[in-house]
Amino acid sequence: MNIPALTIGAVKKSLAEKEISAVELAQEALRFAKEENPKTNAYLLFSDERAVAAAQAVDAQIARGETLGPLAGVPIAVKDVIVTKGVRTTCGSKLLEHYIPPYDATAVQRIEAAGGVIIGKTNCDEFAMGSSNENSAYGPVRNPVALDRVPGGSSGGSGAVVAQGTAVVSLGSDTGGSIRQPASFCGVVGVTPTYGRVSRYGLVAFASSLDHIGPFARNVSDAATLLQVMAGRDAMDMTSAAAPVPDYAASFGKPVKGMKIGLPKEYFEGLASETGDRIRAGVALLEQQGCEVHEISMPHTSYAIATYYIIATAEASANLARYDGVRYTTRSANSATLSDMYTKSRGEGFGDECKRRIMLGTYVLSSGYYDAYYIKAQRVRSLIAKDFANAFEQVDAIVTPVSPFPAFRIGEKTSDPIQMYLSDIYTITGSLAGVPCMSVPCGVTGEGLPVGMQILTKHFGEEKMFQLAHAFEQAGGFAV
Ligand code: GLN
Repeated sequence: MNIPALTIGAVKKSLAEKEISAVELAQEALRFAKEENPKTNAYLLFSDERAVAAAQAVDAQIARGETLGPLAGVPIAVKDVIVTKGVRTTCGSKLLEHYIPPYDATAVQRIEAAGGVIIGKTNCDEFAMGSSNENSAYGPVRNPVALDRVPGGSSGGSGAVVAQGTAVVSLGSDTGGSIRQPASFCGVVGVTPTYGRVSRYGLVAFASSLDHIGPFARNVSDAATLLQVMAGRDAMDMTSAAAPVPDYAASFGKPVKGMKIGLPKEYFEGLASETGDRIRAGVALLEQQGCEVHEISMPHTSYAIATYYIIATAEASANLARYDGVRYTTRSANSATLSDMYTKSRGEGFGDECKRRIMLGTYVLSSGYYDAYYIKAQRVRSLIAKDFANAFEQVDAIVTPVSPFPAFRIGEKTSDPIQMYLSDIYTITGSLAGVPCMSVPCGVTGEGLPVGMQILTKHFGEEKMFQLAHAFEQAGGFAV
């Protein structure tokens, strides 16, 4: 069994032809992932027992001749900000080093109900804050494509395991780019669905109005299958949407001829040459498929980073207040008073980036600055969303780069937070607007570093996004 080349379709076929049992596949996938992991540090933990139990349930279904779920037997990795009952969930933080959640995230429940086999938890930036996975308390992840480079972040581990072939698909979370940017850096598909499309129940909150769960996969079809399983209303998350979930696979193979594509001029100004060249070649490929390409303008784009770093940090400062040494977290051992215990537990537990964001967020919410920063940022967020609404009156999809540059070297940007924040310049806008967006592989640079192309559609327009991405992947020969 060639584990690193597996897709959901290949697993299905192997099980149907009795080439391998689900338990044998789980064991083989775990063995291979453990052997490979020292190269990248992408997994923080392997959930052997849980994986074997899930695989046994699939084998029992096969023995009874039952119809299998869409993820039957598929080895899946889950970002360590998504809670798993009885399986340690650290959020990449020292504070949660010993946290064992008492419940499963809805996404995890749905995956297992569809036959998925969760084999481990993946490394990430602490509480999903970062763009390079260097903010993890458990060490950086190395990009399997070039081991001296970052895999992107914050879902760096989830991007790396799919690229490395140590999971068939994985779950990440995206608040400002954390699925799309690592997907682009690692050369895999990464999808951030419409806000509310996938329940956030059990996703440890960073910035609740921006947080999304989404899939990583080696091809568009696998990403769509995983999203299909997770999508839909959940009574446990009141922001989850009741809108019906279409059959995403039904859009594959439908011609994209005549589809109107918008290229926002603000995203292409000053774009690094090699990334720009790859994206322009990608756009040409879409034109060859009969898409109509139009230049459009999204005039509020340049305010996105500032807006995001006010709203996201404000929400983070509130969400992270619960980690006080009383519940969930490691408690500082040497404190004399209660308030001493709070401050020492937080001071010793949080890493530098979390502290920076808690301070920024507390500042923008403080009484004298609330209107000047927080309220103003909310207004600008509406303008950015309006840019998208206007654009989608003219075009069916927007195409942009995912990141201004390909994977950078480990350590290259750690001393300059602003440079790091600029990594997300093209992904944050979609997050603020809450529209579906994804990264699809678009070739490599001269040095062999992957470049991802971003496709965005209107709210709940995932079907069209997948249709275009699938056509693009087939035309470019990027499909696995
Ligand atoms: N890189 C961005 C940040 O540091 C986005 C993170 C994310 O999407 N979780 O906040």
